[in-house]
Amino acid sequence: MVEILPGVHQVEGVDPSPEFSTHVYLLKDRGGTWTLIDTGLPGTHQATLAYLAKIKVEPTSIKKILITHLHLDHTGSLKVLAEKTKARTFAHWIEAAYIACHPAYDGPGSPPSEPFTVDEVLKDGDTVDAAGGLIAYHTPGHTPGHVAYYQAERKLLFSGDLFFGEGEKVILTVPDFTHHTPTAQISARRMSQLSIDSLLTYHGGPILKNAGHAVRALTQKL
Ligand SMILES: [Zn+2]
Repeated sequence: MVEILPGVHQVEGVDPSPEFSTHVYLLKDRGGTWTLIDTGLPGTHQATLAYLAKIKVEPTSIKKILITHLHLDHTGSLKVLAEKTKARTFAHWIEAAYIACHPAYDGPGSPPSEPFTVDEVLKDGDTVDAAGGLIAYHTPGHTPGHVAYYQAERKLLFSGDLFFGEGEKVILTVPDFTHHTPTAQISARRMSQLSIDSLLTYHGGPILKNAGHAVRALTQKL
């Protein structure tokens, strides 16, 4: 069982390779339901379902799936997991259009492999009733409609691909996979103003304690 923080699970078995870790997060809500943040590459839904079985959570207990951004390693299992869980699905309004492939995404990184229409579109500052309340911060740069989700009470930041974990340090996701790095730098500086205890990165990391230091160490140089 990989419960890395109380009520925060890192789903096992969704990494494409040992060198490239991928973190799908499963969060316990208040009241016995669950929330998933991002969904992994196509085919990894089997690992997610196996993990749910292992911790004795019914797939239909997942009531919400929150997407940080359009890239295939985040949306690849969205359709099948939405079907298996019957969860409501969420993404930023810009990203929702790219996830629906209308229009097709023409930036760097792999686009979704099939169109999917999310149930609810988010804008900056919206709060999702999940895991005790998650604020959706529009953090463009890596992609145009990238979102990071912040649990203010516990100071948890689910940063998608805005930040990339390197041990106890964080970097920005490299320009090769980023739509517009200067905009990502601005988003990073904005997020560094939050009080962050745990930084839940999608690749590399996470940093579970005092992560604000690592974020500020990065953004002071930007
Ligand atoms: Zn990405």
